[in-house]
Amino acid sequence: MTSSSKSKTVAASDKPAFIVRNSPIHGRGVFATRNIPADTLLIEYEGERISDKEAAKRHGSDPENPYHTFFFSLESGKMIDGGVDGSDARWINHACEPNCEAREEKKRVYIYTLRDIKRGEEFNYDYGLVVDERQTKALKKAYECRCGAASCRHTMLAPKVRKSAKKPGKKKDQKD
Ligand SMILES: [Zn+2]
Repeated sequence: MTSSSKSKTVAASDKPAFIVRNSPIHGRGVFATRNIPADTLLIEYEGERISDKEAAKRHGSDPENPYHTFFFSLESGKMIDGGVDGSDARWINHACEPNCEAREEKKRVYIYTLRDIKRGEEFNYDYGLVVDERQTKALKKAYECRCGAASCRHTMLAPKVRKSAKKPGKKKDQKD
């Protein structure tokens, strides 16, 4: 994806543009503390860079919540583990009709607003999770979405576009 030079950035000197608090959707969420225009860079998705092998090892390390991770997959196949040295971006919830999107730029991930956001609104983006396992009912349930949108697909998993596509919608043509 290309970086858009016309994007606005939330000024660091202003009071924080968001706050982390309990969400009606799930756990904690991130909410706007003021009106924010569309196409604004909100926050970077920070965290430790790990291999997919290491991610598999960390996945399920919490037996009480085996599907709960803060992983974000990069185009290279590496992962960002937002659970280690992560930013508040890790608390942004999934939604099927999101008001933000995650964009990868030079191996870093930034959350941008897709439309004007009103003060008090919760930020969200479409996780589009990709798993290697077959998307069984049980798996979809484990990644259940309760965003409440009319078009809610009831799971945070990405829709399977092609049988062979491991990462639908994401480019995966280079390794480093
Ligand atoms: Zn949904």
